[in-house]
Amino acid sequence: MNDKTAENIEEIRARLEELRGLVRYHSRRYYIEDSPEIDDAEYDALYTELELIEGEHPELVTPDSPTQKVGGEPLEGFEEVRHAVPMLSLANARSPQDLREWDARVRRLLDDENDLENLRYVTELKIDGLAVSLRYEAGRFVLGATRGNGTVGENVTANLSTVRSIPEKLVGEDIPPVLEPRGEVYMALAPFEEFNRKQEEAGEKTYANPRNLAAGSIRQLDPRITAKRPLTVYLYGVGEGYEAYPSHSEALAALKGYGLRVNPHELHNSIEGVIEVCERWVRKREEVPYQVDGVVVKVDSREQQAALGSVQKAPRWAIAYKFEPLAGRTKLKDIIVNVGRTGAVTPQAVLEPVNVGGVTISKATLHNEDYIRERGVLVGDTVMIERAGDVIPQVVRAVTEDRDGSEREFSMPDACPVCGEPLVRPPGEAVLRCVNASCPAQALEHVIHFVSKTAMDIDGFGEKLAEKLFDLGLIKDVATVYDLRTEQLEPLEGFGEKSAKNLIRSIEKSKSQPFDRILFALGVRHVGAVTARLVAERFSGDDLLSGVTVEELSEIDGIGEVVARAIVEYFAIEENRDLIGRLKERGLDFQAISSGASDGPLAGRKFVITGALSEPRSAFANRIEAAGGTVVSSVSKKTDYVLAGEEAGSKLEKANKLGVVVLDEAAFRELLF
Ligand code: NAD
Repeated sequence: MNDKTAENIEEIRARLEELRGLVRYHSRRYYIEDSPEIDDAEYDALYTELELIEGEHPELVTPDSPTQKVGGEPLEGFEEVRHAVPMLSLANARSPQDLREWDARVRRLLDDENDLENLRYVTELKIDGLAVSLRYEAGRFVLGATRGNGTVGENVTANLSTVRSIPEKLVGEDIPPVLEPRGEVYMALAPFEEFNRKQEEAGEKTYANPRNLAAGSIRQLDPRITAKRPLTVYLYGVGEGYEAYPSHSEALAALKGYGLRVNPHELHNSIEGVIEVCERWVRKREEVPYQVDGVVVKVDSREQQAALGSVQKAPRWAIAYKFEPLAGRTKLKDIIVNVGRTGAVTPQAVLEPVNVGGVTISKATLHNEDYIRERGVLVGDTVMIERAGDVIPQVVRAVTEDRDGSEREFSMPDACPVCGEPLVRPPGEAVLRCVNASCPAQALEHVIHFVSKTAMDIDGFGEKLAEKLFDLGLIKDVATVYDLRTEQLEPLEGFGEKSAKNLIRSIEKSKSQPFDRILFALGVRHVGAVTARLVAERFSGDDLLSGVTVEELSEIDGIGEVVARAIVEYFAIEENRDLIGRLKERGLDFQAISSGASDGPLAGRKFVITGALSEPRSAFANRIEAAGGTVVSSVSKKTDYVLAGEEAGSKLEKANKLGVVVLDEAAFRELLF
């Protein structure tokens, strides 16, 4: 070996060590701490480089290289679970060509051993969540584990028991005595956004994407925390007990029959059919209501799978066709601050427009000041941004290597950028707030909420119109909505005589909304439609204005102290009292409402509504109340029924524990008619 080659090898060895260090570090952040610092594309680039160099220099591969291992080591604090059948990773395909090459390899390997005519492929969406194994013995859920390093995972049985779509008991016939369905625990995009929004409002930690939140939720030492997270599961395979089925698709069909939630899938006779499906999902990935990062292709026959076997850390009989990541890199031009309906002041990134997954992004959220500081983001930085489906894009980190010294630190203003009043940071919260209830920024957001369908339901009054009327100075707060006149609307773009009259009619009509709707529309913190109804059944607007106490409100079944306090505080503030006075002058009805028909089919029945239903919860609450029932917000022994939609969580869990009757939408309808 001449000197030059020796030097080269040394350089390669050094780069390998560096890459291994980086991949190890980022794997730890991702798999163990659920808090990645770089996005998947950047991680994949490091990993691929490592794999490439190792491929060219097999003599330099060490057994402890991250390419030889699956995932991360199990977390301390959990009991370890040894997987009888290893939980592997998947090889990746990035193009149709990669899939064709994989198909050719599969055919070559199967060749004379198996009947190639019977080769069929299954395609499924690759869900971006946390892989779990569920062990059922004699049909009972006995052990739930994470993948961990593929051989040893963490015992998370208690946490998985709180996931509503994981049944304690399987149903049906011929269930293998030991059956270990495997799948992905995840959080759908809508509940994820809702969760982050609430965290942000409360000044608590927000999560970069649903995967981190799902993974963090399952690996909680306290299952009560997990129970509060709207998690669900899709099963896509079987570990122990797989030999009971001739193929993957038949195993999935059987799991479905046992009452498990099974990942939807399709069967194909050729790789071209597979490619068509992959391309279809590339176009439609954003229609999927949960985060997906590719399509998994699997050989269907169990016998053929066995013949193909596995390499290192992935089976040869499956491959993941990976989507392009929804991430990008761009310049952070400025940071501006937004004031929300509840006065929360949040920083927002103004970006050099960049195309991410077909959508041009020019703004992204930065959550709060702590978030900016933690990520070390400066104005003028090149930043990495990420978007997941419909989730608001966010700045995930600064690319510090690109700095030229012109970047500057950002600090939050002391005064509200809209009304100029000083901002306050409530103790223990990360969010700054503008507490001036008549701040115009809050007023606009407030109007948008007030006129919305589930609040005052003013038909034809959308967000755009609210903004326009604000800009023109025609409305200043929710009370001034009732001062609008046809002649003010008629000249506006998009309006004619008829549409202006219709809007005024809708506004008039909203004056007859019952007090619970008004209370909800006022936007008191923590007061949703159901809470508003509970309060309005006991107290009128005048009662609340004349000083109902926290204790009195807390006596209402379903109202806790935090909510009670928020209501009392709201009605004590002078500006809010003045606003209510003006709404009353304009004819809104602040009388307490009756608790519904006493002779309806549901008379005396108490309901709890939970999960995602096909219509807003308020629509179901109205139907229940019209039939004489009442809706309460928490499940107790006194609850008669729980109406549960998709993704229902702890309430359903509690109902099952207490033996309360649980209805889905169809059963609910049957009850009514
Ligand atoms: P993988 O996600 O590439 O593939 C294997 C996993 O896919 C399985 O364990 C299973 O959990 C999941 N899966 C989802 N749907 C499935 C289905 N229908 N059938 C079978 N499996 C399905 O696995 P991996 O090797 O754990 O992770 C690599 C991924 O993690 C890459 O996307 C990488 O970018 C990311 N990662 C990112 C960082 C970071 O710092 N950003 C660090 C480490 C890993």
